[in-house]
Amino acid sequence: MSESISGLMELKELYQEIILDHGKNPRNKGKCEGFTNDAKAHNTLCGDKVHIYLKLNKDKKIEDLSFEGEGCAISLASASILTETVKGKDLSFITRVSDDFINMIKNKKKITINSLTPDQMTTITSLSGVQEFPMRVKCATMAWHTLMSAIEKK
Ligand code: ZN
Repeated sequence: MSESISGLMELKELYQEIILDHGKNPRNKGKCEGFTNDAKAHNTLCGDKVHIYLKLNKDKKIEDLSFEGEGCAISLASASILTETVKGKDLSFITRVSDDFINMIKNKKKITINSLTPDQMTTITSLSGVQEFPMRVKCATMAWHTLMSAIEKK
């Protein structure tokens, strides 16, 4: 096996570990206190459900957010990774990172936002393998679309 291929295998394994970890131990699960916005969605293809709660402050920052959900490991991991990535961030960051994430999954684009830490970058890129499975695209993107509808709600 050439070095580059074994490096790729290691990366795949790392990505898989991240997804399994978030799927089994989702971060920010439940209903956060004093939420100002929320939205929910249901993926009928797979049976996944997600409900996002967030607390926007007057500086348009997400002070707190959480989710309730059930479904496949991809959908739970994606929602968990989402909450970890956008908590404490402002809306311009959130819009950019969501666009990047959805573009990565749907259009196989690279993440372009440059304000992520290397760890955050690895974590959100861990879901990039879903590109190869059109049936699972919705599992991975649902929470991110739901976050944007929650933000847009008055
Ligand atoms: Zn699913």
